[in-house]
Amino acid sequence: MKVVVTRPIPETGIEMLKKEHEVTVQPQERVLSRDELKELVKRAHAILSMVTDKIDGEVLAAAGPQLKIVANYAVGFDNIDIAAAKAANVLVTNTPDVLNEAVAEHTFALVMSVSRRVVEADQFIRKGRYHGWDPKGFLGVEFKGKTMGIIGLGRIGSRVAEIAVAFGMQVVYHDVKQNPEFEHELNAKFLSKDDLLKTADVVSLHVPLLDSTRHLISSSELAIMKGTAVLVNTSRGPVVDEVALVEALKSKKIFGAGLDVYESEPRLTPGLAELPNVVLTPHIASATQEAREAMSKVAAENILAALAGKTPPNLIRS
Ligand code: NAD
Repeated sequence: MKVVVTRPIPETGIEMLKKEHEVTVQPQERVLSRDELKELVKRAHAILSMVTDKIDGEVLAAAGPQLKIVANYAVGFDNIDIAAAKAANVLVTNTPDVLNEAVAEHTFALVMSVSRRVVEADQFIRKGRYHGWDPKGFLGVEFKGKTMGIIGLGRIGSRVAEIAVAFGMQVVYHDVKQNPEFEHELNAKFLSKDDLLKTADVVSLHVPLLDSTRHLISSSELAIMKGTAVLVNTSRGPVVDEVALVEALKSKKIFGAGLDVYESEPRLTPGLAELPNVVLTPHIASATQEAREAMSKVAAENILAALAGKTPPNLIRS
């Protein structure tokens, strides 16, 4: 059967697929236009899609009625119209778990870069402004004894919590469901969103993008955060109201922010990139060799199962 992969990915999964199917890997290292995507998927039985591919009813129709599965190369699947896929009888899968470590570690890379002003300090040296040790230079904030606030205690949020405990932090969390076992294991506390925002020294977002999580953090939420707090977003850009965040960072309402995802990525809200108290990475939280290899394998396993008429291991059931 025909499998199309919309961007080059690690070979592990491609080799698995090639053993049983005819595989086309779109070779260009860029996001395809809508027309190019519609042309590529024609007559495919399986599409291995990226988070940057908008898969809606039109793309599914362009593929044709033989299409059986869209296997997203990501854990988030907000780029796929799940209702349209269901209506077209197309299975949708994601790649959960295998990127927990990568995203949790990147979350801490951002937390530390912001708290210890690593990027700002690096630029200071590169601009030739370092003329010797300064007793007041680049004062940051420490973690031990501080509070990590996690919004969205799922697979990634839980791993962030474990790392926070290893740093000597207390963990508080907010989710739509409480997890007493986790609370017991990590001595963590469930709080309302507002109480978490008032309490936490670091606020880290790990929710999926849903109608209920769009602008979960906006001006009223930023207003109640501590002046010394750091906000980190490795979830999805629209979870944070970026205009409100630029305002809060500009007026130093919070200490700083670390962002891996953006409201209208790859476009940034005007003013964001000029601020010294924000660290920006280009949606790379899962970009480790380990995670990307594993994601390639998991996406292939999902496709192989679906094309063999079985239920794929990571079927999205909503
Ligand atoms: P998950 O489904 O295991 O966890 C999400 C958690 O959010 C769940 O516990 C859920 O109950 C909770 N939640 C849902 N709605 C909520 C709300 N309104 N308020 C509070 N909590 C709510 O997902 P995961 O595997 O941990 O991944 C989380 C998200 O991280 C993904 O959906 C994806 O968008 C994002 N992600 C980003 C990258 C990246 O490259 N930056 C990589 C992987 C995942």
